Amino acid sequence: VKKNGKNGHQFYSVELYAVLQERMELEADLRKALERKELVLYYQPQIRTGDVHMVGVEALVRWNHPVRGLLSPDVFISLAEETGLIMELGNQVLYEACRQMHEWHQAGGPLVPVAVNLSSQQFHQPNLVEQIKQILSETGLSPQYLELEITESMMMDAKLSFDILNQLTEHGIRISLDDFGTGYSSFSYLKMFPIHKVKIDRSFIQDLAVNSNDKAIVSTIITMARQLNMDVIAEGIETRAQLDILAEQDCNEVQGYFYSRPLSAIDVEQQFFVPSRA
Ligand code: C2E
Ligand code: CA
Ligand code: CA
Ligand code: CA
Repeated sequence: VKKNGKNGHQFYSVELYAVLQERMELEADLRKALERKELVLYYQPQIRTGDVHMVGVEALVRWNHPVRGLLSPDVFISLAEETGLIMELGNQVLYEACRQMHEWHQAGGPLVPVAVNLSSQQFHQPNLVEQIKQILSETGLSPQYLELEITESMMMDAKLSFDILNQLTEHGIRISLDDFGTGYSSFSYLKMFPIHKVKIDRSFIQDLAVNSNDKAIVSTIITMARQLNMDVIAEGIETRAQLDILAEQDCNEVQGYFYSRPLSAIDVEQQFFVPSRA
């Protein structure tokens, strides 16, 4: 196919065709992967900085693709959302995260919660609360050890979100506001909503040590969270300098490569479980 001249458009349509073809293949693969349970969860420790203790983990999905290897969610979450496969994917993730955490608790692992990311479609599915209750009862995990990560953009319909969040929190589930500061935050909603924790987005952390605007924003979020009686955690901590600034501002929970990348379940056990002194 010619690249230039009046046939230029042909090149692009061939390219577009290839992109669509690849998408369709990936969609078919994802469908199969869900049937065959090829999705795996990695867990990133959340660390209390004072004593470097693991106080929770965030479950992050990976796709163990037979040919392409371990795929990151960036490659397939939006595809899953566009094709509706996100419901099945989301349920598998919730189930596995709860099952794994219950197994860890049973085995004497740290009694900490597991945080699970919800997509907007999942959050708005009519039977979400029932499904989560069922997963909790099937896996045996007590609701207080499940934390759901939602984003501000999911709460555009304030009344609906308020109802869903109330049902979840009345059942004892924790709610965490992910990517905080990047969406359309409305402080008036925030104070009405039952939210336990705010996660400061990585984009404010990245240049924290060199950018005084970011420092001011982070400090404001921390103060706001404290005044609204919410926990606060910073994500994407990669350096000691970032950590020191957060400590100065009394933000004592962090998540990031500085302490640990997301790990397989086995690696979490090996690196973060205290060996029993039997
Ligand atoms: P997120 O919820 O904001 O998750 C944090 C992302 O930042 C993760 O990427 C994590 O590996 C990465 N990260 C953690 N610490 C650091 C750090 O210090 N530096 C840098 N550069 N990155 C760090 P990951 O695992 O690729 O996930 C990407 C996004 O995919 C997540 O962003 C979340 O929005 C979505 N996602 C992941 N798992 C699920 C899931 O089970 N369901 C849904 N709906 N979405 C998911
Ligand atoms: Ca998250
Ligand atoms: Ca996040
Ligand atoms: Ca994010």
